[in-house]
Amino acid sequence: MQLPPIGVFATLLLLPFSVTAGTVESLRHCKCQPNLPCWPSDSDWQKFNSTVGGMLIADIRPISSACYEGTPEYNKARCDEVTKEFGDSFWRANQPGAVQHTNWETYPPLKESCYLPSSLSNKTGDGEQCKQGSVPRYAVRARNANDISAAVKFAAKHSIPVVIKNTGHDFLGRASRRNALLIWTHFMRDISFENQYGGWEPAGCKGDKYKENELLVRAEAGVMVFELTKEVSKKGRTVVAGAASTVGVVGGFIQGGGHSPLGVWKGLASDHAVEFEVVLADGSIVSASACTNPDLFWALRGGGGSTYGIVTSVVLRTHEDVSMVQYGLNVTIPILPNNTGAANDTFWELVSRWHSMAPAVNDLGGGGYYFLTTNFPMPETKITAHLFLAFLFVFGQKDTKEVEKLFNPLHDWLYKTVGAPESGLVSLLISGPEPTLNYLGTLAGTEDGQGNPVIPGSRLLSRELLSTPSGVQKATDALRDIEYLGGSIIIGHYVTPGPKPVDSAAHSAWRKAITHIVVGNSWEQGDSFEKQEEIKSLMTDVMVPRLKKLDYDTKTGKQTMGAYVNESDKEELDWQDSFWGEKYGRLKKIKAKYDPNGVFWCRPCVGSEDWDLNGICKVPH
Ligand SMILES: Cc1cc2nc3c(=O)[nH]c(=O)nc-3n(C[C@H](O)[C@H](O)[C@H](O)COP(=O)(O)OP(=O)(O)OC[C@H]3O[C@@H](n4cnc5c(N)ncnc54)[C@H](O)[C@@H]3O)c2cc1C
Repeated sequence: MQLPPIGVFATLLLLPFSVTAGTVESLRHCKCQPNLPCWPSDSDWQKFNSTVGGMLIADIRPISSACYEGTPEYNKARCDEVTKEFGDSFWRANQPGAVQHTNWETYPPLKESCYLPSSLSNKTGDGEQCKQGSVPRYAVRARNANDISAAVKFAAKHSIPVVIKNTGHDFLGRASRRNALLIWTHFMRDISFENQYGGWEPAGCKGDKYKENELLVRAEAGVMVFELTKEVSKKGRTVVAGAASTVGVVGGFIQGGGHSPLGVWKGLASDHAVEFEVVLADGSIVSASACTNPDLFWALRGGGGSTYGIVTSVVLRTHEDVSMVQYGLNVTIPILPNNTGAANDTFWELVSRWHSMAPAVNDLGGGGYYFLTTNFPMPETKITAHLFLAFLFVFGQKDTKEVEKLFNPLHDWLYKTVGAPESGLVSLLISGPEPTLNYLGTLAGTEDGQGNPVIPGSRLLSRELLSTPSGVQKATDALRDIEYLGGSIIIGHYVTPGPKPVDSAAHSAWRKAITHIVVGNSWEQGDSFEKQEEIKSLMTDVMVPRLKKLDYDTKTGKQTMGAYVNESDKEELDWQDSFWGEKYGRLKKIKAKYDPNGVFWCRPCVGSEDWDLNGICKVPH
C-alpha cells in the first residue's frame, strides 16, 4: 500500500531492523503497523468484533505478565496458574499469549522478552520487565470458516500482518508474529467420518467413488493427534498422524508433510489427504482436491503452512489395522575416570552399528525413534554416561522371530562390550505381535512437556549413504563432531516412506531417505540474547552445514538430499533448496496465484524472501 508521508517517517522509526536498502521504494509495499494512521481505529476493531460474533481478543499479553510483581499486571492467582501449568502443552495451546517454545515469544532484535520470573536461571537485565516480544496483541478465536474468512478480509483491507496459530508447536516460530492479527484455529475441533456407506468423492471428482470399506475421516483445523487417533481407533482403523499427542494434525503438521512411526508402512501423513477446505487470501472459502484447485491441493501437501491459505478442514484416508512387534533398546555407557576413551569409542561404534542396520530395519518394516546423548549426568550414581535409547514398531510381523534374528548380533556385541543383561546397562524389549491400534491408544491424552526454548537443525539422510560402510562412518563422524560441539540431543527418526511415488509438494528427498536426524539445542530461560545468538549461530553455521555435507555431490558442490521444514533450523542457509528442492519454483508460482499480495507470510516459507525479515515491507528486487 502507498503510505502517506507521515507514515513513511513513523515506519522508519518503527522498523529499524527491517528496512535497509531501497527504503523509499520498499515502503510502497509495506504492511500497516500500530501507531500509523492506517492502523484500524477502536471503532474498526469493535465493528470487526461483531462480525466474528465477539470472538476478538484484544490487548493480549505474554502469559508471564501476571507474575511481574510491582506492576499493574501482577495477579497472584493467575501467576500461580501460569507457574503450575507452564510446561503443560495442553494448557499452553489454550493460551493466546503463548506458544509451546518460549524462544518464539521473545523478539531478539529489540531484546524483548517476558520470562516467568521464577524460571530465570541468571539475571541478565534482559528479563527484568515483561515486554510484548513476538506475542500478537489481537486474536480471533475462530469458530468456523466464516470467522476465518472475516478475519482475513479485515486484515487484507487494513493491510495488517496476519499470523495463524493452531497449537503453537512450531519449531521455527512461524506461529508467532509481532504486531499481527492472530487467527487462532485451535478451537475448531470437530471430527466426522466420510464414506461410511461408500460412494463419496473428493470435491469436483466424478467417477472415482470410494468403496464402502475405505473409511475417510474429516478433521477440523484445531484437531490434535491424540483426538484423531482416538476417534479413528474407535472404528477399528488406523490413521497416519504424528507421535506427539498435542501436535495439531491439520495445521503445520500435514501442510509441512507430516511424518509418523507408521511412515515406513504407509508414507507421510500428507500422502493420505484427499480434500482440504481452505480460506484464501481474498476471504473466499474453497475446496482443494485432485479435481478442484489441483495446484493448491498439491501445494498443501508438504508446501508449508501459513502460505497459500488457511486450511479449515482436511479429509484423510484411514487404514485397516496391521499387527506389529515392538522393539526397545536402552544402553547406558558410564564414563569413569579410567575409561573415557573406551566409553567414547564404544558409544560411537554402537551408533555406527545401529545405522549400518538401517536398510535392513527399513526392509523389515521397522519405524520409530532413537535418541543419542553424551556426557549425561546420572544423579542416582553421581556419574555421567553416554545414553542410547530406541523404540521401534516393526509392522506386518506374525511373530518376533525376524526381529530377533535381525537385532541379535547387535545385542550379542552389546552384552560383550557394554555389560551382561544383569548389569542393567543394556535393556531390551521385544514384544508382540499386537495390533497397531494398541500403540495408538497409548497416545491418547498425554501432554508433551513444553515451555522451554528449543532450536532444531536437521537432515534427511539417504538410504544410499547408510548402505555403505564408508557412508555409515561419515554419518558417525558428523554426529560425534556435533555432540562434542554441544548438540544437547540427537534424535533419529525411522519414519521415511520409501520410494512409493506420491506427487505432492513434500521434498522428494523423503522418498530416498532412510532416517531423519534432528539435533536439538537449547539455553536457560533468561540467558542473554548475545548467548542465544551464539548458540543459534553454532547451529546455522557449523552443525547444519556438517550434516548437509553428508549427502553431497562434490562435483556440483550441491546437497543431494534436504531437510524436513517443520523440524529444521529457521536460519538454514539456502532454505528453499533444503526444504523443497526442485519443487520450489512451482510452489512459488502457486503462492503468487493464490496470495498475490502476501496476506499470509511466515519465515522461512514459500515466497517469504520477497519481504523483509519481519514480513512488513516488500524488498526491492
Ligand atoms: C513435541 C513435538 C512433537 C512433534 N512430533 C512430530 C511428529 O511426530 N511428526 C511430524 O511430522 N512433526 C512433528 N512435530 C513438528 C510439527 O509438525 C510442527 O511443529 C508443526 O508445525 C505443528 O503444527 P501445529 O499446527 O500444531 O502448530 P502451530 O505452531 O500452531 O502451527 C505451525 C505452522 O502452521 C501454520 N498453521 C497452523 N494452522 C494452520 C492452518 N489451519 N492453515 C494454514 N496454516 C496453519 C502456522 O501459522 C505455523 O506456520 C513435533 C513438534 C513438537 C513440538
